[in-house]
Amino acid sequence: MRDELYIDGRWQKPAAGGTFEVENPATGELLHRAPAGTAPDVDRAVVAAGRAFEAGWGATSGAHRAVLLRAIADRISSRREELARLEVQDNGKPLPEALWDLDDAAGCFSMYADLAEELDGRQETPLPLPDARFTSQVRLEPVGVAGQIIPWNYPLLMAAWKVAPALAAGATVVLKPSELTPLTALELGAIAEEVGLPPGVLNVVSGTGREAGEPLALHPLVDKLAFTGSVPTGRKVMMAAAQEVKNLSLELGGKSPFLVFADADVEAAVEWVMFGIFWNQGQVCSATSRLLVEERLAPRLLDRLCEAAKKIPIGDGLAAGTLLGPLVSRGQHEKVLGFIDRARAEKRTLVTGGGRPPGLGRGYFLEPTIFADVPVDSELWREEVFGPVLAVRTFRDEEEAVQLANDTRFGLAAAVMSADLERCRRVARRFRAGIVWINCSQPTFSQAPWGGMKQSGIGRELGEWGLANYLEVKQMTTYESREPWGWYLKP
Ligand code: NAD
Repeated sequence: MRDELYIDGRWQKPAAGGTFEVENPATGELLHRAPAGTAPDVDRAVVAAGRAFEAGWGATSGAHRAVLLRAIADRISSRREELARLEVQDNGKPLPEALWDLDDAAGCFSMYADLAEELDGRQETPLPLPDARFTSQVRLEPVGVAGQIIPWNYPLLMAAWKVAPALAAGATVVLKPSELTPLTALELGAIAEEVGLPPGVLNVVSGTGREAGEPLALHPLVDKLAFTGSVPTGRKVMMAAAQEVKNLSLELGGKSPFLVFADADVEAAVEWVMFGIFWNQGQVCSATSRLLVEERLAPRLLDRLCEAAKKIPIGDGLAAGTLLGPLVSRGQHEKVLGFIDRARAEKRTLVTGGGRPPGLGRGYFLEPTIFADVPVDSELWREEVFGPVLAVRTFRDEEEAVQLANDTRFGLAAAVMSADLERCRRVARRFRAGIVWINCSQPTFSQAPWGGMKQSGIGRELGEWGLANYLEVKQMTTYESREPWGWYLKP
């Protein structure tokens, strides 16, 4: 575990010499004292990134960058087991999920290696113009220095989603991981060093949001800000970006609906509804945390859901068989319990869970929790809980279902399940959300665009859209005619 920041190709002590405590959420015990970067460290990292960009990284070919991106992917894969275990201790998630994250992170770097190569062939594309005296070509150029701020729910994977496309585009990066889970992001710095990424191309500055995140968001030499996190912090980052009119992308929260029609297969519905809300302890931005069930299926589905939820093996993420680990931190545990306590005080119908699982006296564990008949104007229906808490309501018909689904200030994801595929597609087209799942919930592919409408964010990550986040579009227009222009100087 690293106790220095990775800046300008070197491991450096934080300027203020501080550390912050990182806990293992399964035990609540101290795991590590991580280096606490502050404004002077952020400044050094941004200046190093700017220098690395100017010194040539920004002008390298995509083919050259692809070699390094593939080397990063290979190194992540070769350290898969060890990094996954570190992720579990840092974040709490069950080991099989962490292993999956590691594979996805390596896959993301590989995919962006391919896109970096393709980028070479997309340069100086001629544009058809309506005036034969001119030709015009389009270049795609790297944005410069990217400041990237990420959350704690998928520590290495969120880093990969941002770092890989930025490097593929030819941008340089200052990455600020969450203070709750900084460990694997610092390892990404070590991997960059090992594969020979030039100094300054990737810098990793761990620290708190206030002491490291804010100076990064405000830094005048950061050309592009990419943020993933909550809506309130996203708003602050947007205001910081406005100071220098920075290029900005935001991946924020959600309160995504899952519509289940009465003709759906009940067992498949139970499986996907649970995957949509209990996977990663429900700490998933796209979690389908609002379940809408057609009235006549509701009693049966709810019975089966409760039965199955009670059987989910809960425990330390490193213990064999665990499918639900602890929440990430004491603060998150208290926050989620606060939602449950307030819902109870408002006499909401708690059908299962709601407390600490029996036998797990320490660590930040919480039972899979389901509330039924949740009113549409309640906090539980409208706010992102970010924990294993499902809010359920019924609907009468398709029209009402779509209306309830879209009645939210968020627009990240939505899911629909029915035996009638035509109906699924009809509903999918009407969802006001950036990610729609049909007959499933949550499967995510690096090739497909990721991001939300409304307050769930601005822009898209992953695939070619993720690469576009780090590219500036430049036109080069040439006057080809031998004839004088003849506007002021008449021939
Ligand atoms: P958060 O907003 O509390 O923190 C996110 C990051 O911002 C952290 O690194 C934090 O240190 C930093 N930060 C805090 N204050 C800052 C400031 N003033 N200036 C700059 N940076 C600052 O979010 P979190 O609790 O880490 O993550 C959970 C949230 O992230 C949820 O709302 C979830 O929906 C969202 N999320 C969204 C996506 C997506 O793709 N849309 C993915 C994962 C998580």
